[in-house]
Amino acid sequence: MAATSAFDLETALAERRRLHRYRTRLNTDAPAGRETVVDGRRYLNFCANDYLGLANHPDVVQALKQAADDIGVGSGASHLVCGHSRFHHALEEQLADATGRPRALLFSTGFMANLGVVGALLDKPDAVFEDKLNHASLIDAGLASGARFRRYLHNDADSLAAQLARADARRKLVITDGVFSMDGDAAPLAALCDVADAHDAWMMVDDAHGFGVLGEQGVGTPAAQQVAARIPVYMATLGKALGTFGAFVAGSEALIETLIQFARPYIYTTAMPPAVAAATLKSLAIMRTETWRREKLVALIAQFRRGAQAQGYTLMDSATPIQPLLIGDDAAALQLSGRLREQGVLVSAIRPPTVPDGTARLRVTLSAAHAPEDVDALLAALGEAPSSQD
Ligand code: PMP
Repeated sequence: MAATSAFDLETALAERRRLHRYRTRLNTDAPAGRETVVDGRRYLNFCANDYLGLANHPDVVQALKQAADDIGVGSGASHLVCGHSRFHHALEEQLADATGRPRALLFSTGFMANLGVVGALLDKPDAVFEDKLNHASLIDAGLASGARFRRYLHNDADSLAAQLARADARRKLVITDGVFSMDGDAAPLAALCDVADAHDAWMMVDDAHGFGVLGEQGVGTPAAQQVAARIPVYMATLGKALGTFGAFVAGSEALIETLIQFARPYIYTTAMPPAVAAATLKSLAIMRTETWRREKLVALIAQFRRGAQAQGYTLMDSATPIQPLLIGDDAAALQLSGRLREQGVLVSAIRPPTVPDGTARLRVTLSAAHAPEDVDALLAALGEAPSSQD
């Protein structure tokens, strides 16, 4: 009986329910881009990260099928044993080329890439400085590294400078999201680089939500802000704008070799299926050449912001496909999400602890797969739910 009470899981679960923070899942068909099906009902989907609409692109699907026919499904081993296929290798070369860096290294997920990089670069004598709103994987990576862990105010270079001025450490690593996943705003990279340079710190950018979306050819937030050369560690994921799965880190020869030697989540895990790498090669080529996808997104973003503002919703300072509507109260956000769902529109309610207390929101994400009429339908559904704006 003692063991049962020590593991009293029900109490914590009940508390989470009481706070309207209980997390649930949908069982979706076609879970991407423009629409999805849940329990047989079709919904317009405004909660996927399929920003360029590539997850269902026929050429990407075909590349995956062809590679699976050619070499099977599983990679069979970690990269360092025999799991590193010619598809993985070609993708790394293309990602290095796209990001203008000597090398790139694939990771099986973005979460693991962040754990791997920070763990390989930092140890007890070091210090890590993170934006308060960085993704959970970066926070966990910083904490797990054993380095001194500091958080600076969101997008605030002065706050970072104050933290760095007080630090006495061997290596100093500043880490920021390129585009913040729950707010949609971009980091002020030039200002952060200035501060990092003044304190002999390195910059790392997690561009999960900027890669594919920002910059010429979609090559990311640092390129869009003309500071790519000032950021030695660039990380991005492949499960969002690229429409597939996995992640990569791009940087110098020495950085990539360091990760191969020391990044435990790289060394001790099975390589992603090679067919996923083959599909990503295709979506990367589309990302770079089909500029119209980014142009369309810009137009959809403007259309949505105009419409939501006219209805009195509170938008956030975002020029990206992540367009949250700030609601505040957890239950109200959940209720609005439920009302939209009744009208055939899926938008997730994001609540604490994912976002700070009192800032629950509807996280609307737009995709180049959406048509302007889809955004009109979303706005019409939002207009049908006026009590949510009280
Ligand atoms: N970083 C950021 C900013 C993210 O939004 C995410 C995914 N939500 C990750 C890292 C983790 O990437 P993955 O889903 O590939 O593990």
